[in-house]
Amino acid sequence: MVKFLDLPGQYLRIKDEIDAVMAKVLATGAFVGGTFLEQFERDFAAYQCAENCVGVANGTDALELVIEALQLPAKGEIIVPANTFIATAEAVTRMGYTAVFCDHDPRTYVIDIKDFQRKITPNTVAVIPVHLYGHVCDMDAVVAVAQKHGLKVIEDCSQAHGAEYNGRRAGTFGDAGTFSFYPGKNLGAYGDGGAVVTNSKELADRIRMLANHGRSSKFAHESVGRNSRLDGMQAAVLSVKLKHLDSWTNTRRSTADEYSRLLADVAQVTLPVAADWTKHVYHLYVIRTENPEGLKGFLAGRGIQTGIHYPVAVPKLKAYEGLCTPDMNMNACRMDSTLLSLPMGDHMTPAMVQEVADAVKAYFS
Ligand SMILES: *Cc1c(COP(=O)(O)O)cnc(C)c1O
Repeated sequence: MVKFLDLPGQYLRIKDEIDAVMAKVLATGAFVGGTFLEQFERDFAAYQCAENCVGVANGTDALELVIEALQLPAKGEIIVPANTFIATAEAVTRMGYTAVFCDHDPRTYVIDIKDFQRKITPNTVAVIPVHLYGHVCDMDAVVAVAQKHGLKVIEDCSQAHGAEYNGRRAGTFGDAGTFSFYPGKNLGAYGDGGAVVTNSKELADRIRMLANHGRSSKFAHESVGRNSRLDGMQAAVLSVKLKHLDSWTNTRRSTADEYSRLLADVAQVTLPVAADWTKHVYHLYVIRTENPEGLKGFLAGRGIQTGIHYPVAVPKLKAYEGLCTPDMNMNACRMDSTLLSLPMGDHMTPAMVQEVADAVKAYFS
């Protein structure tokens, strides 16, 4: 039996610390705003090597708030990858912009710089590179192209907590970085949560205000904002978990290295490749094979849980019908039916990795 992810198991391993901090939140009543949120914002900014961090309600809101706070020209086009969680595109569409889909590199699954350049038009206002599966995009190239065309850059870091590009943490190469603390993410809350990091104090202040009813003080509402706050209980839990994140990331990385070593000779499977610029944090370990559903079923029969990320590229989803024309020449639109995510997380032991690899090999032999 190998679980895809094991949240209760993780809780049990840090139960004493979690129970203590939750009791502290309950005793102080700092449920919305207050010391636990302020502490986590400082902790997470320091962890990501960013000057500012604003806790928000979830990773999708983080994207929407950055898009709004950047005050981009109305109705412009924003370039997003075709292979990502729908939230990346959804935030663009919800804020009244046009999502223009761009391809990924078929080895690393992050933004294809050439296709990004091809998708730029006079109406393009921004790009959202997604550090998909925990692999950071080629940020020097993204930023160079963006600067040349006057585009804002929003890094979607929802799968890339602690991931690095040439030794520097993701999130501050562009104008802002957005994070999700959905429970299954590398750093996950016990419910929804999110954050924005940025080195611009002005942008951080604007996001903080927008996310808190546009207020500058209790009843001084400067603009029509919204309610999108990270609550004190989640913030306190996240501060505790953040202390364990590097160790959990190391487990993910050694799990990935072992998968890659053990599966290297399986001809029917294409393994993920990490470009030399990235410290990959393996939110997911995604392989490609002709019939992933067959392999998925075989593994399930042996008690091994797997996932598919993502089974349908975003431009092909019903939600985007009429909003875009899916380009079937894109790798991202052709490969979605070949992806399979193997069990990955801080629960993985060498024995589990071996069990999964043996089962994959058994399926193909
Ligand atoms: C999870 C995720 C989001 C959305 O985060 P939520 O907290 O679920 O709103 C956005 N982008 C990517 C790439 C994600 O994986």
